[in-house]
Amino acid sequence: MTHADLPQALVTGGTIGILGGGQLGRMLSVAAARLGYRTHIYDPGAHPPAGQVAQDVTTAAFDDVAALERFAAMVDIITYEFENIPTRALDLLQDRRPINPGRQALWVSQDRLVEKRFLRDLGLATAPFVPVASPEDLTAALAQVGMPSILKTRRFGYDGKGQARLETGDDYEAAHRSLGHAPCILEALVPFVCEVSVIIARDHLGASRCYDVPRNEHVNGILRRSFVPANVDARVADRSCRAATALADALDYVGVLALEFFVLADGSLLANEFAPRVHNSGHWTPEACATGQFEQHVRAVAGWPLGDVTRFHDVEMANLLGDEALAAPEDLLEDAVLTLYGKRDAKPGRKMGHLVKRLS
Ligand code: AMP
Repeated sequence: MTHADLPQALVTGGTIGILGGGQLGRMLSVAAARLGYRTHIYDPGAHPPAGQVAQDVTTAAFDDVAALERFAAMVDIITYEFENIPTRALDLLQDRRPINPGRQALWVSQDRLVEKRFLRDLGLATAPFVPVASPEDLTAALAQVGMPSILKTRRFGYDGKGQARLETGDDYEAAHRSLGHAPCILEALVPFVCEVSVIIARDHLGASRCYDVPRNEHVNGILRRSFVPANVDARVADRSCRAATALADALDYVGVLALEFFVLADGSLLANEFAPRVHNSGHWTPEACATGQFEQHVRAVAGWPLGDVTRFHDVEMANLLGDEALAAPEDLLEDAVLTLYGKRDAKPGRKMGHLVKRLS
């Protein structure tokens, strides 16, 4: 099949419906506008950041059937910027409009246990893990995984939330209680030398492209900085891209996906998790590459061929959390490109914007 065989790419002026209205939906909307498209944001919250730059906003819960139906009737194609959308919403929408990435990618990524098993079944190594369905399972899991380890809720964890690190002598039951005794996995804490991620885009025809891998620094589970080049061995970068390609192919994925890895001292890679969407560790791509991740995602879901991922600059991307984004703009802007997300409330730890410094 060639692009000529595809149903027509979305026509200029067509509307892309985006489920979720955070900063990712906002940056997707800006990229869509540059390509001549309109966006319609669907978000349960008041004042979603993406609503400031989109043409339409629906404010409704993800289980509001009537609102979902109205939304579907007003858009041409649908994508999402957030993985915790109930798959039931997609079930309803997918009968009405094309949705990319598809339901399976969303479903797998929503549950850490399903996700880790999926990655393993593809032949990708992960940190050792054991499911913890109930407080009774915890003792056996601790004996199996050992210390130090990390207890993670299977669902709804993000930016370090829904996790508890366990050391010898800790009150393990209290840690599980702090996570509401939710179904969890217990994972061995791995002594990685660094973390990298692959941002990959795949089109309707199955062609895919990986950006150069960034090296990512997290603090308290939140991404603080990404550096490109990652300064990892070329073979490590190559293996990570091949792993991401295998994952995207297995999901018959259309759009941008991010796969995160731990790199061990011997150069081996452990896959941690993937996000079926544009990703924070790819926020440097619009400033450094021929085609940024947001445009790339819009191209893929709108049925265009992918853009060139050649990188022209070495970069450092830093997230601005909480009131870091309130620093005088001239200080932030001196030698960097600033993006702010238009969020009203600079709560501690909240992602408010990011800076990209071009180093070459
Ligand atoms: P996650 O929510 O799984 O992406 O975890 C957030 C961050 O916590 C990761 O990016 C790592 O920095 C750290 N982390 C998570 N799991 C592990 C692990 N098994 N071993 C070491 N560090 C981890």
